Amino acid sequence: MTYNVTLIRGDGVGPELAEAARRVLEGTGIKFNWDIVDAGVDIMETAGTPLPDNVLASIRKNKVAIKAPITTPIGTGFRSVNVAIRKELDLYTCLRPAKSYKGVRSKYQDIDLVIVRENTEDLYAGIEFEEGRPETKKLIKEIETIGKKPIRPDSGISIKPISKQGTERIVRFAFDYAVENKRKKVTAITKANIMKYTDGLFFHVAREVAKDYEGRIEYEERLIDNMCMQLVQKPELYDVMVLPNLYGDILSDLCAGLTGGLGIAPGANIGKDIAVFEAVHGSAPKYKGQNKVNPTALILSGVMMLRYLKETKAADKLEAAVAQVIVEGKAVTYDMKPHRDDPTAVGTSQMADAIIAAMK
Ligand code: NAD
Repeated sequence: MTYNVTLIRGDGVGPELAEAARRVLEGTGIKFNWDIVDAGVDIMETAGTPLPDNVLASIRKNKVAIKAPITTPIGTGFRSVNVAIRKELDLYTCLRPAKSYKGVRSKYQDIDLVIVRENTEDLYAGIEFEEGRPETKKLIKEIETIGKKPIRPDSGISIKPISKQGTERIVRFAFDYAVENKRKKVTAITKANIMKYTDGLFFHVAREVAKDYEGRIEYEERLIDNMCMQLVQKPELYDVMVLPNLYGDILSDLCAGLTGGLGIAPGANIGKDIAVFEAVHGSAPKYKGQNKVNPTALILSGVMMLRYLKETKAADKLEAAVAQVIVEGKAVTYDMKPHRDDPTAVGTSQMADAIIAAMK
């Protein structure tokens, strides 16, 4: 079988990583018919938009995509393409496994955690009101009237919507994932003691969903601040974690740190029948065009894609090859060497070559 897959090249180090991932995925022997498309700051110069229509159309048609990182310039009004793709296609789950690989320098060994982050709601919904604008002043007045609490007139406002429907489907995804992947426990994480009507609602709905899995998957709740400490002190106590958008984003990086950094942290954005696979890390613009950064995170996102396509054998083979190259520690990028200026570090494409060779 040949799979039609959209390959989004991204910007910054994106195109180099996309090419490495494409070659390695083909090295598994699985046949792909790639639709290679561009999104991000580079294509914006010619297309006038960072997210040309053909990108979403291609993902909608193929239903599966692998995406290299895309820059979101700060404070320019340029909307995040990453967030736009997730919202447009209703990719409500952000799935981010955090797993230790032998040979990766890290303070921790044997980390095996999975983050299930809600992707469409919360403070990420993009409902924001700029300080000083007439509509912001109007909103502040309205909130003061309804909520009977003062807000400083020179405030900016970001809205945090959390719905029953949005929570139900993400928590159900976490439990179904736990069942399918023979996991034992789901931990829901919020700050419900402070945000009773949003985070409190998340816990309330999660508890109801958990009842459907009683006797099969354990359920527990934690507060986000306490969870950060717990993960640093006793990560072995946790398994699958389900969180609203913002907390999920922050905890993903924390968990990437437990396993040895962003260079090896994969992810997926999954909706009802569409999935986009991408690394946790960003476009690292300072390394653009240098054939320098670690392709592992995007390649492991490719492993997740193969599992999603039920190509389990190919996924196992590729993951084993990545693990072998890392444990040998020779054909790895600078970030995986004992010292960052190690002259024996190889480039992005040479590490991909070594992974392809390890599959033969
Ligand atoms: P970043 O992840 O791009 O880079 C931070 C640092 O991490 C880099 O300077 C580098 O030292 C290291 N790093 C990242 N990826 C690496 C890799 N593959 N190999 C080795 N080292 C690696 O984070 P940033 O600098 O905060 O963000 C840059 C841009 O990327 C921003 O515009 C941000 O919005 C965007 N971003 C995009 C995505 C995405 O496309 N999904 C995710 C996060 C950030």
